[in-house]
This record gives sequence, structure tokens and C-alpha cells, in this order.
Amino acid sequence: MSTNSRPLILVSNDDGIFSNGIKALVEVAAEFGEVEIVAPDRQQSAVGHAITVSTPLRAQSFKLDNRFNGKAVNGTPADCVKLAHNQLLSRKPDLVVSGINHGSNAGINILYSGTVSAATEGTILGYPSIAFSCTEFSEDADLTGCQDAARKVIRFVLEHGLEKGVTLNLNAPAGPLKGIKWARQAKSRYVEEFEGRVDPHNRDYYWMAGKFELLEKDGGSDIDALEKGYASLTPIQYDLTDHELLKKYSKTEF
Ligand code: MN
Repeated sequence: MSTNSRPLILVSNDDGIFSNGIKALVEVAAEFGEVEIVAPDRQQSAVGHAITVSTPLRAQSFKLDNRFNGKAVNGTPADCVKLAHNQLLSRKPDLVVSGINHGSNAGINILYSGTVSAATEGTILGYPSIAFSCTEFSEDADLTGCQDAARKVIRFVLEHGLEKGVTLNLNAPAGPLKGIKWARQAKSRYVEEFEGRVDPHNRDYYWMAGKFELLEKDGGSDIDALEKGYASLTPIQYDLTDHELLKKYSKTEF
């Protein structure tokens, strides 16, 4: 029996196993330890923290670049991390990383993101977890700067660990890395615009074409850091309770 002291890093994403982003992240993760990939077998962007409860999950073995062991799952990013933890991994991971997503997961995007949810699921299961995204949506985006940022942040987390209940969310512009700034989530939202069309059977259908709206211009946010050319790094939490308001409301009895 061999003992393995190299850290085990679980890599997932929401763009699926064929994306350039997951390959870029696997390459960086492999510098730090043994890598196992458990990721969706198809595009799963913007599914948030959805899980599959009414159909079975299947995990198909594959090799990425003929080097890295992976399982392609017909489920969501959160499914992948749950299934990896419960069934698929050879041992407990030391770190869960998700990405590199093609497209920003700054501001309100955090809430819709499957990439971030894979990492959040890792946190819920008790593992230090980080989400990585490049703000450029293109499949051919230059991810080298984001890879450099991932290298620095993975090293930091493997050395120092992470607070329980906290996930790190990193966004980086395409191209070379200017630096990494700690940042809070920017106040933002989507203004939805639906384009209505008619199908060949004369039924209406709709394409969502929401526009991102920034609701603040203050410094210190993830969007602010990105606009200045830096990568943003935000500690996020899944406890959605507004603790201050709870304290205030608790004085009210019904
Ligand atoms: Mn995506």
C-alpha cells in the first residue's frame, strides 16, 4: 500500500469537461498535488446551487490530456462535488477548486453561478474551496493571468487553510496579471430584457437578454478592482441570515 502525502485537489466547474478553463485550472492545481476532476459532462452555467433529485446521476471516467483522471457527471456543479465527496474520490480532498469559468462571477453573478456553487458545496462539506473566473466570456480568452492568480491563491490556502464556512471567489481579467486585490461583492443586479419570438409552430418563445447594472460606484468592490485591471478576491459565505436585522427584529414579538 502506498502512502500519498501530496495534497489531493478536486477540480470542478460549470462549463463542462471540454472547456479550456477547466484544463487551465487543472494544469495549475497539478503543480501543488494530485488532481481528480469531477465535472459536468455538458455546459451548466448559471444553474446556481441546483441539485438533481428526481433522475439518477451517472459518472463516466475520462482522461484529460491523457494525464488527469476525471469523471464526467450528467448533473450540476453542486451534484459533482457532492458525488465526488460521497462516492468518487479515492480519498478526502485537501482542496476543492472550481473553474476557470469563462465569464465574470463578480457582483450579483455570484448568486447565479454554477462555478461558485461547486466551490460553495465544497465549503459546506468542510473542505477549503475556491472559485476562479475570467471576466472574458470567450472560450479562447487568455487565461494566463487568471492561472497566475490561481497559483498564488491556491498556495496561500494550502499553507494557511480557510475559515470554516468561507469560500474564496476570485475573478481576473483576461491577459497578464496586474495583481490581486481583496474586495467585497459589488452591489449590482440584472435588468431583464426578454426578446419575444414565434416558433415555426406559431408558439411564442423568449430569449433572456439581461443587462448587468452596477448599483454603486464606491471603491473596494470586486467590480471596482476588475475595472482597474486587477484580479478580485472575495471571501463569501453561505449563511444568508442578516444577523444585524435579526437582532433588531428579535425584540418584536408576534
Ligand atoms: Mn460558466
